Amino acid sequence: MENKKGFETKAIRTQTERTDFLEHSVPMYLTSSFVFEDAEDMRASFAEEKQRNIYSRFSNPNTSEFVQKVADMEGAEDGFAFATGMAAVYSTFAALLSSGDHILSARAVFGSTHTLLTKYFPKWNITSTYFDTNQPDTWEALIQPNTKIIYAETPTNPGVDILDLSLLAQLAKKHNLILIIDNCFATPYLQQPLKFGADLSIHSATKFMDGQGRVLGGVVVGRKDLIREIYLFSRNTGPALSPFNAWVLSKSLETLAVRMDRHCENALKLASFLEKQETIAWVKYPFLPSHPQYAIAKKQMKAGGGVVSFELRGGIEAGRKFLDALQMISLSANLGDTRTIATHPASTTHSKLTEEERLAAGITPGLVRISTGLETIEDIIHDIEQALLK
Ligand SMILES: *Cc1c(COP(=O)(O)O)cnc(C)c1O
Repeated sequence: MENKKGFETKAIRTQTERTDFLEHSVPMYLTSSFVFEDAEDMRASFAEEKQRNIYSRFSNPNTSEFVQKVADMEGAEDGFAFATGMAAVYSTFAALLSSGDHILSARAVFGSTHTLLTKYFPKWNITSTYFDTNQPDTWEALIQPNTKIIYAETPTNPGVDILDLSLLAQLAKKHNLILIIDNCFATPYLQQPLKFGADLSIHSATKFMDGQGRVLGGVVVGRKDLIREIYLFSRNTGPALSPFNAWVLSKSLETLAVRMDRHCENALKLASFLEKQETIAWVKYPFLPSHPQYAIAKKQMKAGGGVVSFELRGGIEAGRKFLDALQMISLSANLGDTRTIATHPASTTHSKLTEEERLAAGITPGLVRISTGLETIEDIIHDIEQALLK
């Protein structure tokens, strides 16, 4: 049944379990398996005649609560939780595709997703084609008779480009394809892809969902029939989220809304400051009116998110110099943390690509990505200001 409560209430009051101790906060169920009353109970449980926990690779009260919360927040029928975001991405594709199938994916996808599509899936005769984020009129022509899935992230990493979810959903519907959106940068609070017609929404829970840089996790929510396939695949292959991490993540969701409000407020202030700096060629943030897809961002997102990207005049060298000059802000590959983090993709995460490949993925030489944290905004801006002056 659809949960009609407010977003924050769903995040806080969705409690699927309570023991005889009547604890207020959900306890941890650190157990690998569950016992049966008798032989008939065991038979009926395995036959799926009753819904109950059997083994924590299949389900566990902590993971079920986490999944239920995310499903409620996104208006989804069902979901499944994974040990990492990549386990969620991999298992979703693997559960839904067969040899000979084709994926149409946005070019700007997470690094490991790119590796999955270009290095591993071809081994099993699953092919893919990239479409360019900024040329929607070219997308439809790339659909092949064997295309099964359209895949995209919005906002994209690291360029924070925005893709039109309604347009993607229209295309998917017309050609009877499954639309999967990696909603990691937006979180369920800022964007609910299923409401625009997506079939599945995937998250790395490692990022803003945890929000404090502690645990890894992943989750997919959406259409019940697709989740059933993903569940059966995962039940047998074992990428399940640990109960401990599920407990941490479920607690984190209770504060997602207030944390995201501040991430977004800080990011917008930072982006507005950066736009005025002479040493910066351009700034991209979805809720800056200068963003090329500002109107689409406004239509499908509640606020602009925590990630800001900008281009330093002076290319690769300027990017490295900027990172070295930072005093408080962390140099880390993570994002969506309470701590502000800076990365320079051209010299780090994407250094193995050729310059041409980088440019095609929107990674210009002086591109810096900032995941705006929850420190006092004046301190964040001050650190960046002094680094720009060096
Ligand atoms: C981090 C990330 C992933 C992978 O998540 P892990 O939890 O690190 O496995 C997938 N997609 C996006 C957009 C990400 O930022």
